[in-house]
Amino acid sequence: MSQTIAFIGLGNMGGGMAANLLKNGHAVRAFDLSEDALAKAEEAGAVRASSAADATAGADVVVTMLPAGKHVEAVYTGEVFAAARAGALFLDCSTIDVTTARRVADAAAAKGFEMVDAPVSGGIAAAHGGTLTFMVGGTDPAFARARPILSAMGKAVIHAGAAGNGQAAKICNNMLLGATMIATCEAFAMARRLGLDPQTFYDISSVSSGQSWSMTSYCPLPGVGPQTPADNGYQGGFATALMLKDLKLATEAAASVGASVPMGNAAEALYQLLANRGEGGRDFSVMIEMLEGK
Ligand code: NAD
Repeated sequence: MSQTIAFIGLGNMGGGMAANLLKNGHAVRAFDLSEDALAKAEEAGAVRASSAADATAGADVVVTMLPAGKHVEAVYTGEVFAAARAGALFLDCSTIDVTTARRVADAAAAKGFEMVDAPVSGGIAAAHGGTLTFMVGGTDPAFARARPILSAMGKAVIHAGAAGNGQAAKICNNMLLGATMIATCEAFAMARRLGLDPQTFYDISSVSSGQSWSMTSYCPLPGVGPQTPADNGYQGGFATALMLKDLKLATEAAASVGASVPMGNAAEALYQLLANRGEGGRDFSVMIEMLEGK
């Protein structure tokens, strides 16, 4: 069913996601602080709004894809709640801290609105290609309403439980990814120092107990395993700065509930070092260069 969707935050990810809503027959009312982002959304067929409140007025659904929790909270409590029509559904697809996600969802519920947190796995290419994976936190009825909208932008939509659980799933997954990528880089670097050919080590470890997604789907060494950002000078892919953002969210969340995450803490410290070397914009598998002393 075609709906009118307010889309707020049309950057690297949101721009492609809004275009997929349009391709699926929805009407999109777009707002972003960036003129460039708005112009691109208009080109894709969206109607330009003059503010988040203007985008929201008359919309059936509001989707946000913003940098961090403070932006999400400000947009909903400052504009969206007041401008939304009764019964409007809110979907926040940004990656933000669990605490803020739950606080905003609670505030929405107090005003009578249904809201889900639906952060994504998959990068800019998946956002444009409509192949994102959504991890969704919210009530069963809210999830049922959100699902068809999210399906227009992704290949998988998974209900993770109550509000905030989408963000919890996202940061637990990415903490695991950060740690396994570092461990994979360490193992390759050490294998090379011990005189073991990296391709031979890959052939052995990729079918042994050291196997992981970081090794067989995203191998950090150029020329080994499938085509990955390593084969492209570590350009594209998942930026070190975004991995660091997710690890900070993960360790903050761990501290807030007293979870012991020594590997997550180590991963955060190592990705901070990598970012400090000026590698924030390169793919996170460039970690191997730092570990090899390059
Ligand atoms: P981005 O910086 O390209 O886009 C964010 C957009 O939000 C910008 O265009 C900015 O102008 C706009 N914005 C900021 N404050 C606003 C406000 N108050 N009102 C309206 N617009 C506002 O970031 P991105 O790469 O698109 O990432 C968005 C979210 O998706 C982040 O939470 C990020 O962690 C998450 N994410 C990104 C990737 C990725 O590969 N880029 C992958 C998964 C998840």
